[in-house]
Amino acid sequence: LVRQIFVALQGAFAEHQVMLKKLSLKRKLCVVLVRSEEDLAKCDALILPGGESTTIALLARLAGLLEPLREFTKTKPVWGTCAGAILLAQTVENTKKGGQEVLGGMSISIARNGWGSQVESFEAPLVAEGLRESDRPFPGVFIRAPVVLSLNPKPQDPPITIVARISAGLLPKTQTLVPPDEDDTDPRDARTIVALRQGRHLLTTFHPELTTDHRIHEYFVHECVLGSSA
Ligand code: GLN
Repeated sequence: LVRQIFVALQGAFAEHQVMLKKLSLKRKLCVVLVRSEEDLAKCDALILPGGESTTIALLARLAGLLEPLREFTKTKPVWGTCAGAILLAQTVENTKKGGQEVLGGMSISIARNGWGSQVESFEAPLVAEGLRESDRPFPGVFIRAPVVLSLNPKPQDPPITIVARISAGLLPKTQTLVPPDEDDTDPRDARTIVALRQGRHLLTTFHPELTTDHRIHEYFVHECVLGSSA
């Protein structure tokens, strides 16, 4: 029995729930929402949904969940989408006054709202290099999404695997890879990375739960939760 859980304090968790229920799994997947330390203690894995990273962190602190979540992240699989991705990063740029509390867990640096404001939200086909049927693009939905700035794994950290990238040529006209107007953006630049895995953690800067493509949910369950290799 695997229990998937969500920190349901704020944000888009219902869509994740629907998506997970559609996965055909041999083993039963029990999806529960987490609002307290007791809920968390019952869980084997966690999805941190999109929403507002500062609000999620604040509500987690008020619920007495911040430290338990940090402990959870040290040993169990966690997937952060968008705001959740910000919480999983080691360092966060472009934070509000007072900074951003994080859980850490992934040795990367990320910029909040790195693609701009709400009106600059966009969709783009992604290069799904780490996924099943990798030649089929993954539909990327970016809503005030963060941008990965750098990968900083230390030698003792689990290696980082790239799961999906955005290609400069597939961005809508309103978007450029930051910094703007660099025609010769290195296609391997960290800023093109929009989904990555480190150990048993997964991070996506976009919202797979708002699409009909199950491959990333499947990836998390099979590779990070059920898979034994780190
Ligand atoms: N910009 C939001 C934040 O900083 C994230 C947006 C989202 O999760 N869709 O938390």
